[in-house]
Amino acid sequence: MANGKTPQRIRGTQDIFGEDQRRFQHVVDTFDRVRRLYAFQRVELPVFEATAVFARSLGETTDVVSKEMYSFEDRGGDSITLRPEFTAGIARAYLTEGWQQHAPLKIATHGPVFRYERPQKGRYRQFHQIDAEIIGAAEPQADVELLALADQLLKELGIADGVTLQLNTLGDAETRDAWREALVAHFEKHRGDLSEDSLARLDKNPLRILDSKDPRDRPIADTAPDIDAHLSSAAGGFFESVTKGLEAAGVAWTRNSRLVRGLDYYRHTAFEFVTDRLGAQGTVLAGGRYDGLIGQLGGPETPGVGWAAGIERLAMLVEEPTEARFDAVVVPMGDAAILRGQAIVTELRRAGVSADMAFRGNMKKRMAKADALNARYAIILGDDEIAKGEATIKALDDGAQASARFELLPWTIFDLVFEDIGYEDRKESKPPLASRMPTKKAGEVYWTR
Ligand code: ATP
Ligand code: MG
Repeated sequence: MANGKTPQRIRGTQDIFGEDQRRFQHVVDTFDRVRRLYAFQRVELPVFEATAVFARSLGETTDVVSKEMYSFEDRGGDSITLRPEFTAGIARAYLTEGWQQHAPLKIATHGPVFRYERPQKGRYRQFHQIDAEIIGAAEPQADVELLALADQLLKELGIADGVTLQLNTLGDAETRDAWREALVAHFEKHRGDLSEDSLARLDKNPLRILDSKDPRDRPIADTAPDIDAHLSSAAGGFFESVTKGLEAAGVAWTRNSRLVRGLDYYRHTAFEFVTDRLGAQGTVLAGGRYDGLIGQLGGPETPGVGWAAGIERLAMLVEEPTEARFDAVVVPMGDAAILRGQAIVTELRRAGVSADMAFRGNMKKRMAKADALNARYAIILGDDEIAKGEATIKALDDGAQASARFELLPWTIFDLVFEDIGYEDRKESKPPLASRMPTKKAGEVYWTR
């Protein structure tokens, strides 16, 4: 470019690479495996929606809608918003795509979401969520199943120990109205000490003052009346079914009678999985029941329950995943060997063997590449090997060497890797391999040291 500086990454976005990416991938892969165990179907959804999808679902007075949305007018003059969360878009799709016929629908997804927030550790403007929802089920069993899914996911990620499930009920409409009155009376008494944000919430949505992070609000929120005195018998019964179900499923929880969620659409069950290992950004997974949402979007009254978790926050908590070992690195020396190497590396990959070629620097440098990839075998091709039509196989763990004819090389390496790790393990990590079992037996390999 003629002049000007290189454009920089936008504040609050991330380029995720190396160890960070491996952690991220580990969270996504684990989620994808566990959601299948629970029969949740994967869906792919648009990254942007009509602004009304979020404005109507989340409520105009929520932080997300009032100050965090990335909204813009597109070239056709329509107001568009980058999704700040998944639930509203899923509810929209449920209505517009005829998914009602599949109710109760258990779905899962993951991807980027966007919120204009002040960036800091664990808080970004483009971050990523995993998300699970059950739409069209009013039964408390759906709540239990979603919580069991979340609990198993955190256990399989190895982070359940430092994380607590905090559970509350927000009751039904009758309960909420009665509780709201009691809260307003309490907050009115402390009007002078509330933050400006909370004063604004006092008229529109006093429940949300309980969720405030402002230190001026905390003592007032912490001494506010809890919901229990106002629970209708229906709402109390629902909550009891959920807690009994959790006990039956072996999911540990604690009651947090002042837990509310930041969005307007929640009813009954509300929950957060919280850790003290991430400082102020301690909520790793959160959700609840949103029986009012689909009606708010103009659809028939439809119950729903779901949760979302920040992938970055989960990734910060997991241990670095161990990398699968690489099978083979082809190390050619000389022009003829390079061409032969190109053929061999391709054949290896087609046989389901992970393989790469080292083509830069001297022999030592090329062997270092095999080490860097944590490969099991180096396949060495020099002038001697080309003349004989045989490659030298070097086992990188113990330095033993053997040779194999070029045409048998894919099957030889394939067999060797099987001997090392067993067929069943391999089938797990690379499913297509089963159909690529070698048709020829490579024969004995004679190792020399
Ligand atoms: P917080 O109270 O931390 O702002 P939230 O209530 O806004 O969270 P939700 O809308 O419930 O969060 O989103 C679910 C999860 O997404 C959170 O528990 C958290 O793990 C993650 N999350 C939310 N906002 C961000 C962000 N800006 N950057 C990274 N992760 C986030
Ligand atoms: Mg937030």
